[in-house]
Amino acid sequence: MIFRTPIPDIDHPEMEADVVIVGGGAAGMACALRLSQLIDAHNAAHPDAQLSKENIYVLEKAREIGQHSLSGALLDPRSMNELLPGWQSEAPIEAEVSSDSIYYLTRTGAFKAPITPPPMQDHGNYVISLNRFTKWLGGKVEETGITVFSGFAGSELLYDGDRVVGVRTDDKGVDKNNQPKANFEPGYDLKSKVTILAEGSRGSLTKALTAKLNLCADRNPMTYGVGVKELWELPAGRIKPGEVIYTMGYPLTTREYGGAWIYGGKDNTVSLGFVTGLDYPDPRTDPQHVLQSFKQHPFVAKLLDGGKMVRYGAKTMPYGGWWSMPPLGGDGWMIVGDSAGFLNSQRLKGIHLAIKSGMLAAETAFEAWLAGDASAKQLRKLQQKVDASWIKDELYPVRNFHQGFEHGWLSGMLNTGLLMATGGHGLRNRYPAHPGHERMLPLWDVMGHANNREQLLGWAKGDGKLTFDKLTDLYHSGTRHEEDQPAHLIIHDTNICATRCAKEFGNPCQFFCPANVYEMEDAPDTASGKRIHLNPSNCVHCKTCDIMDPYAIITWVPPEGGGGPSYDGM
Ligand code: SF4
Repeated sequence: MIFRTPIPDIDHPEMEADVVIVGGGAAGMACALRLSQLIDAHNAAHPDAQLSKENIYVLEKAREIGQHSLSGALLDPRSMNELLPGWQSEAPIEAEVSSDSIYYLTRTGAFKAPITPPPMQDHGNYVISLNRFTKWLGGKVEETGITVFSGFAGSELLYDGDRVVGVRTDDKGVDKNNQPKANFEPGYDLKSKVTILAEGSRGSLTKALTAKLNLCADRNPMTYGVGVKELWELPAGRIKPGEVIYTMGYPLTTREYGGAWIYGGKDNTVSLGFVTGLDYPDPRTDPQHVLQSFKQHPFVAKLLDGGKMVRYGAKTMPYGGWWSMPPLGGDGWMIVGDSAGFLNSQRLKGIHLAIKSGMLAAETAFEAWLAGDASAKQLRKLQQKVDASWIKDELYPVRNFHQGFEHGWLSGMLNTGLLMATGGHGLRNRYPAHPGHERMLPLWDVMGHANNREQLLGWAKGDGKLTFDKLTDLYHSGTRHEEDQPAHLIIHDTNICATRCAKEFGNPCQFFCPANVYEMEDAPDTASGKRIHLNPSNCVHCKTCDIMDPYAIITWVPPEGGGGPSYDGM
């Protein structure tokens, strides 16, 4: 696993920690809050054996809590009811779901399903802004006395052999040539008894740990989708708060996996987005273009007419499910939330699972603390807790759901019916899966087959009203990075970009990146006449490039803490 070249001869100050949680999203914050509750209960029962929260830390790479939190977002309240009974009275909620429906879109038609299939029924769930919700949850954590370090990324794990003994935070003030600037500050070595990875989808430390310890040799490869989202303000009365609409079909064809959501929020806002499975065959597919084409469908264009796009964002989500999840605990570490793949792809929901997994990790860490034992034997108990919880009841029956779509939409739908009739077993207990990037076809297999798919391919132009080009959308993500810092997108062999990739796949990074980070520029001095150019400061941290590059030669590492999108209200 390659990280940036470290600056030589730098001492990193050390801090002792009992527990470090890397990632202050829903899973990480729920973990911290549950840990605090357990400590409070222990201290109340044992006045002579008080435990301190002083050495528990949450690292969050965003400048402010919640700024990097993006989702649809519909919240199934189950885990929050357990974590903070009565939470609804104080949490920021957009609306309680008032109706749900599902449509199949053809190029111009929209056909409503007579009933919403049970997995997509949302009565009792809540439309939230994950940004606001996480900010609120983070505030609850800070009230407990647990320290949240905002603007600090976990840059690498610290090891003693194969045992994780903590995490190093990012160095601040390094220039683009990897040299210290006048404001240089070395990262801290947080020497922790337990390190909990809650980094979100395709976490960089999780990826490094998985590779180092070969954790997933007996698992299905994780598969992903990328959700590209816009927030709109609409004329009054256009959509009810809490109205939920899902769509399948257009603009995707039967060869791609994905679908859209439309959620009515309060104050005439609507969250709409499109998830494109990152296992599409045509390398020219552009998920941001997919969203723009979706909005041009008469069913959606009518809804948005007269409205205004106010925010934009993108993130990946782990679709792989039960068979793709890594081991959840080992010597000194645990993995929770999207980093571990806690997402129900049939229901398109993961926040409640992320929260519950964070709570169970807190309980596991607390027991390890009391036992003075953070060994693999102790921390693997997280898996036992997950197996004994409603997480398994929810995820195990859909363990083969996404794999069923590997051969297209029609076979996926048939398989879904079969799985529902057989408790998720289908034709065999474990369906195999393949990494999504391996399903990308070379240009010569797709050229001339663009019929009915031009709405997916290449860059969207945008009319500036209903549809937008990538840079206009990006402007609405609030993305900001320190410009003078090393690139946080590491391409392990840029020759491949200008030679093999240009010829075989037409440089799909130009299309799959929803933030226009990758460009092929003219370079008369190279054999191919092209050279890759990066705009890292555009990056919205979605991780699509780390997942979908056909040669798997891109590694995303955290930029200097504090940089990234600002998903206020998203
Ligand atoms: Fe997403 Fe990678 Fe583009 Fe950043 S560079 S926005 S992580 S695809």
